Amino acid sequence: MVQQSVWEKESFFAPADIIIAGSGLVGLWSAYYLKKLAPSLSITIIERGLIPSGASTRNAGFACFGSLSELVTDARNLGMDQLLELVDMRYRGIKKIKKIFGSEAIGYEKHGGYELIGSGSPAPKNTPAANSATRTHPTPQATPEADSTTDATPPDSQAAEQGSAAPDLSDLDQLRSSIDEFNRLLKKITGQQKTFRLQNEKIGEFGFANVQYLIENQSEGQLHSGKLCQALIRLVQSMGVNILNNTGITGYEKVHGHLLLHTQYGFPLIAQQMLVTTNAFALQLLPQLDITPARGQVLVTSPIEGLPFKGSFHFDEGFYYFRDLGDRVLLGGARNMAFEEETTTEMATTERIQNELERFLGEVILPGRFHTIEHRWSGIMAMGSEKMPIIKAVNEHVFCAVRMSGMGVALAPIVGEKVATLMTSGGEPG
Ligand SMILES: Cc1cc2nc3c(=O)[nH]c(=O)nc-3n(C[C@H](O)[C@H](O)[C@H](O)COP(=O)(O)OP(=O)(O)OC[C@H]3O[C@@H](n4cnc5c(N)ncnc54)[C@H](O)[C@@H]3O)c2cc1C
Repeated sequence: MVQQSVWEKESFFAPADIIIAGSGLVGLWSAYYLKKLAPSLSITIIERGLIPSGASTRNAGFACFGSLSELVTDARNLGMDQLLELVDMRYRGIKKIKKIFGSEAIGYEKHGGYELIGSGSPAPKNTPAANSATRTHPTPQATPEADSTTDATPPDSQAAEQGSAAPDLSDLDQLRSSIDEFNRLLKKITGQQKTFRLQNEKIGEFGFANVQYLIENQSEGQLHSGKLCQALIRLVQSMGVNILNNTGITGYEKVHGHLLLHTQYGFPLIAQQMLVTTNAFALQLLPQLDITPARGQVLVTSPIEGLPFKGSFHFDEGFYYFRDLGDRVLLGGARNMAFEEETTTEMATTERIQNELERFLGEVILPGRFHTIEHRWSGIMAMGSEKMPIIKAVNEHVFCAVRMSGMGVALAPIVGEKVATLMTSGGEPG
């Protein structure tokens, strides 16, 4: 093991008040708010990858707060109050991102969001291993029999509270009444009379096939995930946060009133407190958490001449998502084709999911348009038995802010602010 110089020991590797494990969006936003709330804190972020290497630089860049079909299902599983709290966190998170960075630095564009309702996916609903309660609702055209094979069973109290069948969004009357209901509920969050509106006339304009209805949400935007992470890194470094890359924290122990953190690098690091923001990888340090990793796969097409749409698009409760990337299309999802296979922290793409994405691309998004696939990748999300993030003190030295349930771009600023407030106000273990 190479010996550290005294300079290194007193700067890069100096004992810190707080060490944050993971430099994804949650780790970075947490560092930002910790410094805002307590500027004198010394903070070091330890990142296992050369750059943030979980989901934050590998996602789709939607600045979104939930498509109608996803909200309908989540309301049944979480209960309406919790769902609205979650949506509010996401909505406020997007506002904070825009306020702090503006548009240009993070490639933010506001072309609105849309949900496609239709027959685009024959994805079989097999038994999910993650977020079973929240992401297994059948496609709109699924049969009542298929419905009963899902394990989307809400807690008893909620089931009793709801007491009615899930609305069938492929039925125009039920779709309209769900839109009305959520517009009424979301008004106090978005300030808009109509967060969601039917825009079926745009189906043809956008060139989609096999789509029955299109719901527009003008409050959604899209951003460049790499630029957002870079901008955040620059911001927290300018506030005095120390970031060490390419070494993971492998374990920790309490020694003489502080924490000794073991790293892959070989040298232990010392901190008063540790904040775990490793999301899908958090079980390594905190195996007791209710977290299940969920791989998300993505592809990006070649440039398409005259691409007829802009915006971020959801399908099948957000299991499929696509957007314009200039004149290219970024498409991701289809995890519900193979829940078990995709319950993994292995960063890889598979033929099964990629083939399904290509099918969806050809049959729904770009029917009859020539395209090739130029990029493919995957990232790892954290799901669990419910969608609320876990923000808590594990003990007096260790805190965590994890489980973003696939929507961490929007959630991370608020999650970071909440955990920073908890840590600086002497949060009790929860
Ligand atoms: C394909 C895909 C598409 C998505 N699309 C969207 C979207 O459009 N909009 C949206 O809101 N959300 C989206 N998400 C989800 C979003 O990206 C995540 O919720 C968010 O990035 C989670 O941030 P995080 O900081 O909690 O976790 P991560 O970004 O996973 O960060 C955790 C970090 O911890 C590091 N780490 C792991 N173990 C250790 C260790 N032992 N020591 C030190 N470091 C460690 C990892 O390398 C990683 O950098 C998507 C995710 C995927 C995979």
